[in-house]
Amino acid sequence: MFETLSDRLTATFKNLRGKGRLSDADIDATAREIRVALLEADVALPVVRQFISAVKERARGAEVHQALNPAQQVIKIVNEELIRILGGETRRLRFAKTPPTVIMLAGLQGSGKTTLAGKLAKWLKDQGHQPVLVAADLQRPNAVQQLQVIGERAGVPVFAPAPGNGVGDPVEVARQSIEHARAKLYDVVIVDTAGRLGIDEEMMKQAADIRDAVRPDEILFVVDAMIGQDAVTTAQAFLDGVGFDGVVLTKLDGDARGGAALSVAYVTGRQVMFASNGEKLDDFDVFHPDRMASRILGMGDVLTLIEQAEKAFDAQQAEEMARKLAGAEQDFTLEDFLQQMEQVRKLGSISKLLGMLPGMNEIRDQINQIDDRELDRIAAIIKSMTPAERRDPKILNASRRARIARGSGTQVSDVNQLVERFFEARKFMNQMARGAMPGLPGMPGL
Ligand code: GDP
Repeated sequence: MFETLSDRLTATFKNLRGKGRLSDADIDATAREIRVALLEADVALPVVRQFISAVKERARGAEVHQALNPAQQVIKIVNEELIRILGGETRRLRFAKTPPTVIMLAGLQGSGKTTLAGKLAKWLKDQGHQPVLVAADLQRPNAVQQLQVIGERAGVPVFAPAPGNGVGDPVEVARQSIEHARAKLYDVVIVDTAGRLGIDEEMMKQAADIRDAVRPDEILFVVDAMIGQDAVTTAQAFLDGVGFDGVVLTKLDGDARGGAALSVAYVTGRQVMFASNGEKLDDFDVFHPDRMASRILGMGDVLTLIEQAEKAFDAQQAEEMARKLAGAEQDFTLEDFLQQMEQVRKLGSISKLLGMLPGMNEIRDQINQIDDRELDRIAAIIKSMTPAERRDPKILNASRRARIARGSGTQVSDVNQLVERFFEARKFMNQMARGAMPGLPGMPGL
């Protein structure tokens, strides 16, 4: 998501590189390029207008900043304006003072509501809550069953009308679910409602009736980020018809443009609270406007990366690694290299992961070619080495390399390449550890 926008903005900023001062003409030209970039990414026109005028005004009035060159100044302004458009602060879920907290999901059919219900339930459960899922989508055939399957995967109970009891009344099911939650001491009730392929009055009325029956603490509008400009129209219709408190963007993994994400919060005045970026239950996270902005600007979403790393890494191992990075060059061995790679793997697909690192936009294509098989090969090579070789790869002479290639079913050239890479990585890590990051932190090529 956002690749097109990201690439275009990066190119725009590159044009500013090396300029000592920005003239009005420079600012106008930059603003025009940013405008095209936003429009191409499907950002709604009113949002684009507001964005451009703010950037222009601020760039003109910008104080000559000691520490920043003009390109960095523009990036800083664009970054701050992006954050503002995306809703500013991260908005957290509000919990009811007296449980259960009721969360109602609304949105079009196919927006990813039911999947989202499962993700949200699992996320809450992981935090120690006891959620229950409520199947109030009785329109779509199989919707109840789908929710039951998802509930089972998430390890969360599902409240649904008993089969054979006729079709059932979704409003009544929703109402009963609250009593059920009270009786069973569930502290969060997540109500999945019916959607249609398009907006229609009957759907809005049903959602409004469910809302009145369960009096939600949070109504979340779920929207597929891939539907482009329609996202804004749909959001407006739901805001008028049912009302909502927050937005969930789904399928952020799908499209290269993603303007919907940049428009919905601004147009509706409701913040994006969660983002969904895949079909698996864990492809889900709290939405942070600032992190999203830096990801769009190619500065990398380092904070999310760190958080994911913290989840996957054993804390002690991480500390050990940090110590090694900060310490002498010789401390970092091939064992560590392998261990690190295996940990990286725990974090998910390598290209998704590397996409979060600063400056990766430009080499994304190469990254996309790295696949897990290559990691398997690297692991096999390292595992074919003796402990002494892993600790001190300098001892790897030709005959040792040949033996390792045979042992791991690879070519000597693969072994050579890996060893070379390892030395490069070690050098790079030493530079990082000494804080030798050029330019503004995380801003590539500036
Ligand atoms: P609902 O009709 O709103 O309940 O939508 P569903 O939850 O049934 O989702 C519709 C389709 O979108 C399903 O095939 C889901 O697997 C898929 N889906 C949901 N969320 C995501 C996401 O974040 N990324 C991708 N790629 N697919 C998703």
